[in-house]
Amino acid sequence: MPVLRLRFRLVSDTIGLMTATILSGKAMAKEIEAELAEQVADFVQNNGVAPCLAAVLVGEDPASAVYVKNKRLACERMGLESRLHKLPVEATEEELLGLVAQLNADDGVHGILVQLPLPRQIRSAKILDAVHPLKDVDCFHPENVGLLTQGRPRFLPCTPHGCLQILHRHKIDVAGKHAVVVGRSEIVGKPIATLLAAKDSHLGPKVCNATVTIAHSRTSDLPAITRQADILIAAIGQPKFITAAMVKPGAVVIDVGINRLPEGLCGDVDYETVKENASAITPGPGGVGPLTIVMLLHNTLQAARGLEN
Ligand code: NDP
Repeated sequence: MPVLRLRFRLVSDTIGLMTATILSGKAMAKEIEAELAEQVADFVQNNGVAPCLAAVLVGEDPASAVYVKNKRLACERMGLESRLHKLPVEATEEELLGLVAQLNADDGVHGILVQLPLPRQIRSAKILDAVHPLKDVDCFHPENVGLLTQGRPRFLPCTPHGCLQILHRHKIDVAGKHAVVVGRSEIVGKPIATLLAAKDSHLGPKVCNATVTIAHSRTSDLPAITRQADILIAAIGQPKFITAAMVKPGAVVIDVGINRLPEGLCGDVDYETVKENASAITPGPGGVGPLTIVMLLHNTLQAARGLEN
C-alpha cells in the first residue's frame, strides 16, 4: 500500500496534479461582516447616527436591481442606514447630476453609490466625477484614484480590496512574487495591479510589494505570460477563459469574473481543471464576489468616521 501511495505521489507530482486550497469568500465575508457590525455599533453609540449609504439606481436593469438589493440587505445586517434613489431609464444627465449634488450636500448621507451601468444617454465619467470625493465609497473619483496611485489611499476600491483580504487572511505572501493581472479596467484590473505593486498596505507589507504584469486583450502570447505568474488574477469577463494550460503548477489563482451562462454563474477561470494545477484558488462564484459588498460598507463606515470631527 505505501509503495502504491508513493507511486501515485510521484506520478501526480510529475504531471502537476495537486489539491488546491479553496479560497472561499463566503465564510470570510461573514467573518468580516461580524467585525464590521461591531465597529458600526460602536460608531452608532458614539455618534447617535448610523453610517448611511445612498444608492442611486437608474432604469430597470434586473442585475443592477439585484446588486442594489443585496447592498441594502447587507446594510441592514451590519447596522448601516441605506437609502435608495430610483430614476427612470429615460432620466437625463442633468437630472442625475442634480440628484448627486443633493446627496453631496446632505449631511445625513456618508457614502454615495451610483449603480453601473448607466443608460446610454448618461456619461458615466461625468456622474462619477460629480460624486463628492469624501463620499466616493466606490473609489472611482479621480482624486481618490490619484491618492491610491500615490500610495496614500483614502478609500480602497471594493473588489480589489476583497482580493487583498483573501490573500491576507489566507496568509498568502505576495511580496517579491510575480503577480499577473489579466484585465486593465478602471474598476478591477488597474486598481488590483496598483495595490499589489504598492510599497505598503494597510494589511501589511506582505500583501503588496509584488512584481506586477498587467495583461489585456492586446497582449501577445497571453498563456506564456500567465504561466509566469505566482499569483494569477483574472478580471476579464470571459467565461472559463483561463485554462489549466495557462497556469503554472502551484500558482495561486484569484478569479474575479462573474459571467452569466444559461446553466448559471461562472468565473473567468475554468475552475474544475485549474484547481488540479493551482496551490490555491477562489471558487467562482463564491470567491471575491461576497467580499465586494462588505468592502463597500467598510468604506461607508470610513466615510462616516471621516466626517465625525
Ligand atoms: P471590463 O470589461 O471593463 O474589462 C475586461 C478586461 O479584460 C479588459 O481590460 C480587457 O482588455 C480584458 N480582456 C477581455 N478579453 C480578453 C482576452 N481575450 N484576453 C485578455 N484580456 C482580455 O470588465 P471588468 O474589469 O469590469 O470586470 C471583469 C470581470 O469581473 C467581469 O466578469 C465582471 O463581471 C467581474 N466583476 C466582478 C466583481 C466582483 O465583485 N467579483 C466586481 C466587478 C467586476 P482590453 O482593455 O484590451 O479591452
